[in-house]
Amino acid sequence: MNYGQQLEVIKGLSLQKDITSRMDCPFCHNKNTLLVDTTESSTKWYCFHASCKAKGKHIGEKDMQYVVNTFKQTKPISESADFEVPDSFKSVFSSERAMKYLHKNNCWEAWAWHRADIKYDVRHDRVVFMVKNQNSNKYAGAVGRALHRDSYPKWFMYGHKHVPFKCGQCDDAVIVEDCASACAVSNILTGIALMGTSIADTHLAHIKPYKNLYVCLDRDATTKSYGIAKELRAKGFKNVLVKPLEEDLKYFNTDEIRDIFYAR
Ligand SMILES: [Zn+2]
Repeated sequence: MNYGQQLEVIKGLSLQKDITSRMDCPFCHNKNTLLVDTTESSTKWYCFHASCKAKGKHIGEKDMQYVVNTFKQTKPISESADFEVPDSFKSVFSSERAMKYLHKNNCWEAWAWHRADIKYDVRHDRVVFMVKNQNSNKYAGAVGRALHRDSYPKWFMYGHKHVPFKCGQCDDAVIVEDCASACAVSNILTGIALMGTSIADTHLAHIKPYKNLYVCLDRDATTKSYGIAKELRAKGFKNVLVKPLEEDLKYFNTDEIRDIFYAR
């Protein structure tokens, strides 16, 4: 189906304005594989099913609502004084490579189900994981993963690192190094990304007492995992367990993660 035909089908769905949503794909008929985004006064769609080529973007009229929203975007976050979202943060749909990154690193479900707020920084060509301070419900910062292999650093911190990136609301949690791994586990466990291999005192206020708290840093940092576990136990956290792994959690899908934590 060509672009024009796809657009007609998408228009036929009569999507609401300003939503990001996931639905059954009208092109390949697979369940929940189509992502649609009608923010920024445009309509974007993308199907994640391997057999399906549905994707596209239609720029709508820049109506008054768009002007109001664009104007608001430069302002509202400043209320928080914590972190002002840069104008260059756009929908992940702006970049096919960003979408592919989410898919390859098992993040897209977390994003599609709104467990994680993920954007694309057009200026720096990065997938951006928004860090929310769940205690104040405001953005505390963001973490950008470079999409180009020559970009340095691979992970870039926007704002400060006082708040860890959290994804999911499960009773058990796992402390990981990067945001992608935190997203990958979030169907099964709450993912908490430190963006490094050490835990700061400011992080502790954001780690509630979970039923089980796993520490699972990257393989080359297993010793640090044991260090963090020891530190957490000393601070009164119960049931802290180290989970040594051969690979980062972002390379595992939901079923594999369930096996890793609950079947072995
Ligand atoms: Zn499809």
